[in-house]
Amino acid sequence: MAVRIGLGSDLHRLKPGDGIRLGGLDIPCSLSCIAVSDGDVLLHALIDAWLGALGLGDIGDHFPESSVVPGTDSRFFLEKILTLSSREKARIVNIDCIIELERPKLGEWKKKIGANLADLLELAPAKINVKAKTAEGMGQVGNGLVIIARTVLLVEVDA
Ligand code: MG
Repeated sequence: MAVRIGLGSDLHRLKPGDGIRLGGLDIPCSLSCIAVSDGDVLLHALIDAWLGALGLGDIGDHFPESSVVPGTDSRFFLEKILTLSSREKARIVNIDCIIELERPKLGEWKKKIGANLADLLELAPAKINVKAKTAEGMGQVGNGLVIIARTVLLVEVDA
């Protein structure tokens, strides 16, 4: 058996709106992501980490922006990667994530987002850790211009 690690990162610009989707959950707030899809930065970063661990490129290789139907639910992308992953006989060991967002604060959402990811991936909740940070008012995150997600993911594969 071999263990492989993957790293993923994603950023979307923010605009006035009626909510942000994170890990497949809708977080009600006065912002939305600017995106072709639903702008779920966490799922996008997770998918990139997963593809990295599998050595299969990045999300843009599999879903070029020109091919994405506006408003696509990112869970659709996730399902495709789940299929790829099971084809490779890869099993997720654990996932760790950071969401960088100034407002709203995500403290009360972290566990819910983790539980939702666990449901989507059919994993034990203990295998997923979700962290949230602000940027103390500094830079693009701190000024509420962008949201960023970063993910690392470990998989086991039969050697
Ligand atoms: Mg994205």
